[in-house]
Amino acid sequence: MARTKTIPRENLRERVEELSGERVFACYQCGMCSSGCPYAEQMDRLPSQVIRDLQLDDETLLDSNAMWVCASCLACEVRCPKGVDLAKLMEALRQIHLRKALDRVSLDDLSKDEIKKLPQIALVASLRKKSG
Ligand code: SF4
Ligand code: SF4
Repeated sequence: MARTKTIPRENLRERVEELSGERVFACYQCGMCSSGCPYAEQMDRLPSQVIRDLQLDDETLLDSNAMWVCASCLACEVRCPKGVDLAKLMEALRQIHLRKALDRVSLDDLSKDEIKKLPQIALVASLRKKSG
């Protein structure tokens, strides 16, 4: 009987590395990225924790808000002694969600009052970043 070859499913780290072109094991956890991130306080995991979770292949990272809060400002990349581009890793994590075509923001879920109050630029930016 012919043997069927099983193709191993890529783990989270491999998917993120493929999408971002970054190598997560380059990070040695110095924390410089987290200490300089202007949005770290709003994140439920610090940027250095995000990359640590990737090293550990922790799929619960996909439930974190960090990738959605990241503004791709590149402050972390400038500070990183290992040249890790965390913004690319965050974008790759967003892409994994967006490729499932699950929208994080839906205009239908916003009230007319909210749409009136929110700045248009914030709505457009949010739809571009968070819609599959
Ligand atoms: S600054 Fe670079 S090496 Fe240091 S924790 Fe952040 S990603 Fe890792
Ligand atoms: S690119 Fe994202 S993770 Fe890096 S400093 Fe800016 S907001 Fe923080």
